[in-house]
Amino acid sequence: MTIRSFLSENLSTASIAVGAVMIPATAYTACPIELAVYGDTQSGSEIDFTPTGTSATVTNTFRLILDNNVVLNGIVMWTQDVARPNGALMYKCPEGDVTGGELAACTLWNGVIYTSDDKGNIGLLPAEGVGAPKTLILPDLGPVLRQSRAYGGSGFSKVPSDVFAMPGMSAAQKVLLVTGGSRGIGAAICRLGAKASYRVAVNYASNKAAADALVAEIKAGGGEAVAVRGDVGKETDIVAMFGAVDRAFGRLDAFVNNAGIVDVKARVDEMDVSRLERMMRVNVVGSFLCAREAVKRMSTRHGGSGGSIVNISSAAATLGSPGEYVDYAASKGAIDSFTIGLAREVALEGIRVNAVRPGIIDTEIHASGGQPDRIERFRDLLPMKRAGTADEVAGAVLYLLSDAASYTTGAILNVSGGR
Ligand code: NAP
Repeated sequence: MTIRSFLSENLSTASIAVGAVMIPATAYTACPIELAVYGDTQSGSEIDFTPTGTSATVTNTFRLILDNNVVLNGIVMWTQDVARPNGALMYKCPEGDVTGGELAACTLWNGVIYTSDDKGNIGLLPAEGVGAPKTLILPDLGPVLRQSRAYGGSGFSKVPSDVFAMPGMSAAQKVLLVTGGSRGIGAAICRLGAKASYRVAVNYASNKAAADALVAEIKAGGGEAVAVRGDVGKETDIVAMFGAVDRAFGRLDAFVNNAGIVDVKARVDEMDVSRLERMMRVNVVGSFLCAREAVKRMSTRHGGSGGSIVNISSAAATLGSPGEYVDYAASKGAIDSFTIGLAREVALEGIRVNAVRPGIIDTEIHASGGQPDRIERFRDLLPMKRAGTADEVAGAVLYLLSDAASYTTGAILNVSGGR
């Protein structure tokens, strides 16, 4: 007998009555339930959901993390007759084939998992893919666990309550704007930002279809996103773009200066003024003007509540890109200096400013500069003998945006595979 078959036979459907009207679980945040984390301030314990994968019977998988490193494994299955999300918490279950008795012994708690919102409306724990509710109720959890073999001695000592809530000021409410967020590295940042529960504003210049597709993808995953058009080479577009984010979300917590362009391969003695002005206008002036708008919203000096900015530089800033595009490399060198200066300028205003320097990353930017084979040509020169992925850059950006980097400002992080 497996744990799942045992539980599907033995879970009671309505073991605990809650004296309130049952309503469908409501999604309160952009965070899908399978990524949600809940805490119980009374005991400091945590409920941590993880994606279940494909299962015919299990709808949710989670862990209850108690003090003294006691971890209970949880699963949820819906009963057919009276539809209810029946949860079970297990502790040190034997591996492999086990008897029903052994499984019963290692199941410390089971019951229906309820949810509640700010107004006290009670719902049922939703299946994966749906936005996470604000509060979870596991009836009788505390008293039942206190009677279990996991309590006392070398087990846990702080008995949890029956109610677990999402952290009060979670990233779920925060807003992230990414310029050039519709494709390539920007799109990867938007996707990862949505997974980290940011509400995401996806900027694009002309490819509306790509931006709309990404917004639809984020929404399908339970997130919140809007597409905002704007050419960062135009001040009026930048002001309008930030205004659109204000209207959509009413706040700005995280901003990524990602939009950037390259031009076709050329030596400096072949570059004309229009090429140089376009390069600097989009990559440098655009980044300054966008940061200006972000600072106006985030800075405590302007009545904001702080925030985090990440500028996307390039390994080209240190390499110079001779014979290819020194203008692009110089524009990214400017981004590095800009990052250090702005970081110091707003350090006392609640804003951190950092940069990421990607190496050669597999996106469409190389083809846009007339070099679709650029990655292949450079592969053998790269220490890891491969290009990086947009996701690998996004991970570094999300770290710098997050509170985990709270003492990091003015930093420039190479994500260049050692190049
Ligand atoms: P990409 O694949 O070419 O994507 C560019 C994105 O920027 C698209 O969303 C595009 O929007 C947008 N964009 C272009 N010009 C814009 C403008 N004037 N205003 C607003 N948005 C604009 O580029 P990527 O490779 O992801 O590069 C992203 C950033 O990383 C750039 O700053 C780049 O310099 C830097 N970087 C890239 C690499 C690399 O190897 N890929 C290496 C180092 C640094 P549309 O879809 O509307 O055109």
